[in-house]
Amino acid sequence: MNNWAHKHVLDLASFSLEDYSTVIALADRFRSLPETGTRKLPALQGKLITTLFFEPSTRTRSSFELAAKKLSADVQNFAPQSSALTKGESPLDTAITYMSMGADVLVIRHNLSNISAEIASYIDQEGLNTSILNAGDGLHSHPSQGLLDLFTLASFFNPNEPSTKSLSGKNIAIVGDILHSRVARSNLWALTACEANVILCGPQNLLPDDFVQFIDSPPPGIKKDPINKRGNISIERSLKDCLKDVDAVMTLRLQKERMKKSLITDINRYYFDYGITHENLKYCRRKIPVMHPGPVNRGIEISSEVIQDNSISLINQQVRNGIPIRMALLYLLTNRKLTE
Ligand code: ASP
Repeated sequence: MNNWAHKHVLDLASFSLEDYSTVIALADRFRSLPETGTRKLPALQGKLITTLFFEPSTRTRSSFELAAKKLSADVQNFAPQSSALTKGESPLDTAITYMSMGADVLVIRHNLSNISAEIASYIDQEGLNTSILNAGDGLHSHPSQGLLDLFTLASFFNPNEPSTKSLSGKNIAIVGDILHSRVARSNLWALTACEANVILCGPQNLLPDDFVQFIDSPPPGIKKDPINKRGNISIERSLKDCLKDVDAVMTLRLQKERMKKSLITDINRYYFDYGITHENLKYCRRKIPVMHPGPVNRGIEISSEVIQDNSISLINQQVRNGIPIRMALLYLLTNRKLTE
């Protein structure tokens, strides 16, 4: 196994090609464990994984919990509504409390961008050993989702040997509310790193023109892009033109909780223009897989028929692949010094 240099996983902008390869290879091994009759590994015995979800979650929190349990870790979950947050305790003080109880990894979700980074920098300043795994911060980043999407696509294109190479030269469409989506941002780093080209599609108010330059400016703290050659990003306003020549499409939820005002006044029109329906998929030259990170709003960004069409929908596979990807991340963070 390659060297793993990350103490925390805050976003994917800092990931090298080797990092992506390491995660995919490990996730692939974890995914095939049931075939060998192994349901659980002792790898994280004695480790404590704490999930601090200040924002709601169905898939991410439960799959981190399951991933940790499959590696025999102890798991501690935090329930914000019944916590001291209601008495005014800050997220940092909440995190410090759980670190004092011995958390090896804090898996954090918050509606503010950069909360995970703030807690990680406190840890580093204090010389503490806990790792932070960002499970979604505002509209900034959702690295484990970006990785499971990458793994799902790589497995689709190359089922026997999914790797970063499986994505090279592929054209992947991301459709919908890009502006408010941390999933889109993490996918942009991951997909372009593997030399896939990303075609973004949505109306102007959900997809500003400057998204084509997204990968030109790595976030603060990253001096040099660790990837030598990235795929391209382009924008198509019309779904018809976007879908014509793509190899896969990922659609996104309208993130109303992050909109200051309603940006879509006519939902039917939006569904007609940007909904992933069998009708709109006729614009594709070939049959392509459809992805969605969930939760889905049926009849707004995607139809029920497409979700249930097993010949094209990868949505359930995305959920399933979330477990080995999160096992890989937890393993790498808790075995930093042991990887060889
Ligand atoms: N579950 C994803 C996220 O937490 C996508 C979404 O909420 O629409 O960002």
